[in-house]
Amino acid sequence: MTFPRKLFPKKGQNQVIYKNEVIKGARVRGKEYLNYQGIKVNQRTIGEPCRCRSCCFDKISEGERQEIFDRFYALKTKNEQDAYMQALIECSEISRKRPRVDQNNSKTKSKSYKYYVSSSSGKHCVCKTTLISIHGVTVDRVRRLSKLLSMGKPPNDRRGKKTQGMQKRDRWSGK
Ligand SMILES: [Zn+2]
Repeated sequence: MTFPRKLFPKKGQNQVIYKNEVIKGARVRGKEYLNYQGIKVNQRTIGEPCRCRSCCFDKISEGERQEIFDRFYALKTKNEQDAYMQALIECSEISRKRPRVDQNNSKTKSKSYKYYVSSSSGKHCVCKTTLISIHGVTVDRVRRLSKLLSMGKPPNDRRGKKTQGMQKRDRWSGK
C-alpha cells in the first residue's frame, strides 16, 4: 500500500494532522505505512522463535500465537496496547550484596522481569524474545514499558498531543 503524494503536502496544518492520524492509525493496527520521512514501515508480523532453553515460543501453538497477535492489534489505541502489554510484565526488585571496591554502598538493587502472553488457554510465562515476537513489537517498546513499570508508572502516549500532554503533565504534577 502506498499513499499518493498529494495526501502529504508539505504545508498546511490540516494536512499535517491528517498525516498524523493516518500514521497513528496504521501504527496501532500494525499495518504498513509511510513514516514522516516518507520511508516505508513494514506491516507488523509475528517474529522469529526464541532460542532460549525453555523454547517458550514453540510451546504456544501457532493458532494461539495468531490469536494473541490479532487481539493485540484489534486494540484501538496505542495506550490500550501499552496498558495491555504492561499487564503482561511483572517486575520485582532483587537486592543482593555484592562486594564493591569503588563504592561505599555494597548493596546493589537490580530489577528482575517476568513476561507473559495471554491466550484463550490462559497466561503463559515466556521469555522476553517470545513476548516481543508474538506481539510483533519492538524491543524498545517492551524496554520502555518495563522501565515505566519498574517506576510504578502507567504507560502513556504523549506523541502528537501537545496540548493534552501538557494538561496531563499539569494534572500529574498537581496530584
Ligand atoms: Zn523463550
